[in-house]
Formats: sequence, structure tokens, C-alpha cells
Amino acid sequence: MLTRDDLAALDGADPLAGFRERFDLPEGIVYLDGNSLGARPLGAPDSASALLGEWEEDLIAGWQGRGWWDLPVRVGGRIAGLLGAAPHQVICCDTVTVNLYKVLHAAVALRPDRRVVLLRDSAFPTDRYVVESVARSTGRAVRLVPRGEDPLGHLDGDIAVAVLEHSDFRTGELLDMGPATASVHAAGGLAVWDLSHTAGVVPIALDGDGADFAVGCTYKWLNGGPGSPAYLFAAERHLDASEQPVPGWLSHADPFAMTDDYRPHPGIRRFLTGTQAILSMRTVEAALDAYEGVDLHEVRAKSMQLTDLFVRLIDERCPGLEVVSPRDAFRRSSQVTVRHPRARELHPGIVGSGVVGDFREPDLLRFGFAPLYVGYTDVWDAVEVLAAVTG
Ligand SMILES: *Cc1c(COP(=O)(O)O)cnc(C)c1O
Repeated sequence: MLTRDDLAALDGADPLAGFRERFDLPEGIVYLDGNSLGARPLGAPDSASALLGEWEEDLIAGWQGRGWWDLPVRVGGRIAGLLGAAPHQVICCDTVTVNLYKVLHAAVALRPDRRVVLLRDSAFPTDRYVVESVARSTGRAVRLVPRGEDPLGHLDGDIAVAVLEHSDFRTGELLDMGPATASVHAAGGLAVWDLSHTAGVVPIALDGDGADFAVGCTYKWLNGGPGSPAYLFAAERHLDASEQPVPGWLSHADPFAMTDDYRPHPGIRRFLTGTQAILSMRTVEAALDAYEGVDLHEVRAKSMQLTDLFVRLIDERCPGLEVVSPRDAFRRSSQVTVRHPRARELHPGIVGSGVVGDFREPDLLRFGFAPLYVGYTDVWDAVEVLAAVTG
């Protein structure tokens, strides 16, 4: 039988253990909700307050003098490093919802003779609402892949675009980006990826895998802070031909010309709309500082060990909980979801005992393991609480 001491030894030998010091976490809790809102990076308060100081001192001159104007591109370029993408294809802006709306419009327009947008019916609700809205306004049909079925089995010559979640937000099941993108391309369609639940914990190769477009969120695993701006990726080969549906002065080729005619910016800036949330983007910068020097393959290796350990201890000690995430760590992101018929009632007691995870309708408890600040003894302590609360 494993003991807590065995796990303390693993923590002692963990090459990522030192990264926990890059985050401020309250004492006395095990935080397993980094997949909903990441922990606060150490540098976030200074980064935000520096911006407030620049604003006070420089006022309007700060846009150029302090680099606020270029921040979406600069931060996007740094995020690109975590996505396996060349930097000029990524921009930090707006929300996932808005960015998906923009790239999906662009992608559908690149396949004018195709009638269908494909999406799993288990997709995150915002993705579904956006897909349905874009399909309606562009005269396309939505093909919903029933839960549990392989989306690649539903591709054919009608597909314009497949919108694919890299990880299912409920179960943490991964979709293998390389083969999936290749299948979509073989059918003649384009692949739009939602990386909200994987960027920062799973190595991603947008360029290597030939992805067409992608969107994702910075406030989950990337620790950007509540409501921090999202990002979007457009492959270089599509940039010049991409038309987005919310053109604004910031996506204009020459914003300060203030001309009446719209001409899109030649690069990734064509996907901007209006002025961005600079204060919030500065905490994303602090979060990216916390990722400096992180090897995502090491993160992935620890993530698989943490989730394997959690699954094993749940099996051994919590007979009332059923693991619904894939049992094969290679097919699972950094979260484990368990089912309990009374999950809703039990959830507040679990959080009250210091183990912070999510409840998801109707009977799911979702636990995320952020390898930069969650250790092996944390997993042990969490399962102690779950065993006590779930009987
Ligand atoms: C978190 C998440 C979003 C969030 O969208 P916002 O518009 O940024 O609130 C979208 N899609 C997926 C798959 C997510 O996990």
C-alpha cells in the first residue's frame, strides 16, 4: 500500500517542485480548480500596479511609450510558445467566445462551397452557441456528433469546418490533434481548435499538426487572472485571405489614418476588434513570466502521474465514486472527473474541508491538477477528504 510518506518522497524528487514558489496560494487548501481559474502568479500584483503607475505618469503617451499598443501582439507571441506556433500567428484579445466567432466566420468563408459545420454535442456551451449562430448567419448547417461517438467518423465532403475541443471539458478526454486535423483536411475541411482546457498543461503543436485556427483561454491553466483576455491563432497560410466579422479600427491596416474605407491589417492584427483590456493583459504577462523556463513535456509527465495517482487512490479508497475520465493517462488531460449520485449535495462539504474542485451538472465532480503548484501529497490529502465525505 502507498503511504503519504511515499508521496512526500516523490514531492522531494519532483523537478517541478520549485515552481510552486512562483504562485501565491492560501494556506490550508488543496486547490484542484486550476482548470477553472488558475492560481495567482507571484508577479501579478506588481505587474498590475506598474501599469497603474504608468497610466498616472504617462497618460496618453503610455500607448506608445509604454508599449500598451503592441501588448496584444507581444503577449500573443509569448503564448504562441506554449502552443507550438510561430509567434506572428497568435494574438491576445477579447474572450474565447468572441474569438471563436471571429475565426469561425473566417474559416467558413474559406470554404464557400461547403455546407456543414461539425461540432460534438458535448462541446462547451459557448462553442455550441457560437457555432449555431455563425451557421445561421452564413447559411450553413450544424452537424452535431452524438456523445461518445468519434467526430472523425462524421466527416465527409460536405464539411466546411470542424470545431474541435482539444479536451472534453466534462471528462478531460483528449482528442489527438495531429490525426484529427489530418482527417479534417483529407475531407477537404478546416480544423478550428479550442485549447481552453489544455494550453499550459499538455504540449501542443499547432504548426506541426497543421491546425488552421485555434482559440483558448488564459484564466484557466495559464493563470492570467479572473476575466483575463483570451487568444486566437490563425495559420500564416490563411492570414491574408481571412475576413473577420467584427472589423474595427484596431484591425485596420492604418488605424490612425482614420479613413472611411476599411482595409484589413496584413498580419494577425486583422483579428483585433477594438481597444483591449490592457490592465488585465498585464497580469497575463505576469502569468507567462511564471511559465518561463517550464518544459511542457515535464509538466505533462507530472500531470499524468498526478492524475494516475488520483485515479488509483479513488479506486482504493472511495467506493462511492465512479471515475468517468479515460483511465489511460495518454487519453486524458490534466483533470479527473468522478460521478456520485449526490455530487451536488456533497460538493460544498468537500470545498469546506479544503479541497477545491468543481461541481458539474448533473452528478459530476471535476478535479484539475496544475503540475506547477499541485504536488503528490496534495493528491493524498484530497483523497482523504473525498473518502471521508463520500463514505
Ligand atoms: C472556458 C472555456 C470557454 C470560455 O469562454 P469565454 O468567452 O472566455 O468565457 C470557451 N470554450 C471552452 C471550451 C472553455 O473551456
